[in-house]
Amino acid sequence: IVSTQEPEDAGTTPDAPPTSVLYRELLQNYKNIVASEGVYLTDSTGRRYIDAVGGTAVNIIGHGVSEISARVADNWDSTSFVYSAFMTNPWQEELARKLASITPIEDGRVFFTSGGSEANESAVKLARQYHLDCGRASKWKVISRTASYHGNTLAMLALSGRPTWSARYSPYLDSSPKIAAAYCYRCPFSLSHPQCGIRCAEDLERVILQEGPDTVSAFLVEPISGSSLAGAVPVEGYYERIQEICRKYDVLFIADEVLTGYGRTGRTFAIEHWDVTPDIVTVGKGLGSGYTPIAACVASGAIVDKIRSVSGQFVHGFTYGGMPMACAIGVQVFDYIQEHSLFELASTRGDYLRARLEELAPTIPAIGDIRGLGLLQGVEIVGNPKTRQPFSPDRKIASRIVREAEARGVLFREGTPGANAGKDGDQIQISPPFVISPNEIDEMVSVLGDSIRTVLAEEAEA
Ligand code: PLP
Repeated sequence: IVSTQEPEDAGTTPDAPPTSVLYRELLQNYKNIVASEGVYLTDSTGRRYIDAVGGTAVNIIGHGVSEISARVADNWDSTSFVYSAFMTNPWQEELARKLASITPIEDGRVFFTSGGSEANESAVKLARQYHLDCGRASKWKVISRTASYHGNTLAMLALSGRPTWSARYSPYLDSSPKIAAAYCYRCPFSLSHPQCGIRCAEDLERVILQEGPDTVSAFLVEPISGSSLAGAVPVEGYYERIQEICRKYDVLFIADEVLTGYGRTGRTFAIEHWDVTPDIVTVGKGLGSGYTPIAACVASGAIVDKIRSVSGQFVHGFTYGGMPMACAIGVQVFDYIQEHSLFELASTRGDYLRARLEELAPTIPAIGDIRGLGLLQGVEIVGNPKTRQPFSPDRKIASRIVREAEARGVLFREGTPGANAGKDGDQIQISPPFVISPNEIDEMVSVLGDSIRTVLAEEAEA
């Protein structure tokens, strides 16, 4: 949403229709957010909302932290722009060092972009160039998972397993191979853990063999499902097996941590919940925490050195990658996180949130599943708790729950059904800023419960 009003307009009458482009549903019910603080957003009519999704899992340090702009102003050296393909700048270097120091990548090297889709495109291109420079020219395919989201560019839509968003663009999209999602609540193989033998991880080997190992460049995965399956967490051993398969076939392991990175799941990066080391990690949202558009692709030194020694350069670049102002803000966000131990806070507040959700669930049998780690949690609502049969999609249960909650002053997000629209249940994503207090979590969960009950009561009467 592009705000056309100054914050002092808060409390005035509703706005004229927006000139910026919004989603259809928002057009009927749009809010012009003119002020924000902590976990609260205030619209132009003066209404305050708890931002239970951190925008879209972007904000982690809280809204309206004036220290960020003050510190940038205090340290600013007035270099507006240098093109990072030819030059670097102190802010880019400082942020790269800081980011590499916390990313679970060996000898990490950083390529900055303005958003997560660009970061994932960069990762895919880096993997391709690496194989070319290693003399493996036939390796170009990228395998990803069903019910996944990696961004909105045409290449990333092709790799995302979200037909609801990509189907209409199919003439532009390569068909990319997918493996089954790690979605235990509705196991794609109708198995249960541990008897399943982690069949969803074994599926990677099946697809690599089917496509031909000499054609597969990389496996791209959200370590914990974000917006498509609202926090679905693979079982213990899943990524260890994925890594083994990737290494066996010279397939690079790319962890898309655009949503899950930067502390969101209670570890600095979500992949650290497993004992593995990816070859490339992408990070976005939390890196700028909503104070600037910035994302990055962090690759192992071995990959980057190989490309440098053979090709001289990574043949890729975006005008605004590594821009001084964006990196300067990224540095202040990084320092602020460290000074306030916000990654640790996400873990403790995440535990608190999870405990409250676990208490809520038995009071509402339609809550079929609660999943997630840290401050990325998801709730799946089902029509029949015994059979896990979802409500019919045309009942729009999740979007009605989101609207009910909004009327009560809390903003949630509807999880987007992935490959299985109509077979998965209705999902609600919860991903607030890490500074949310226990009282605010209590209020958020209580509103969620009331909103679910209201919609279920309406359904019972319908
Ligand atoms: N990857 C994941 C896992 C995401 O959740 C998103 C955005 O929601 C993206 C990539 C795309 O990031 P952006 O919207 O910044 O391009």
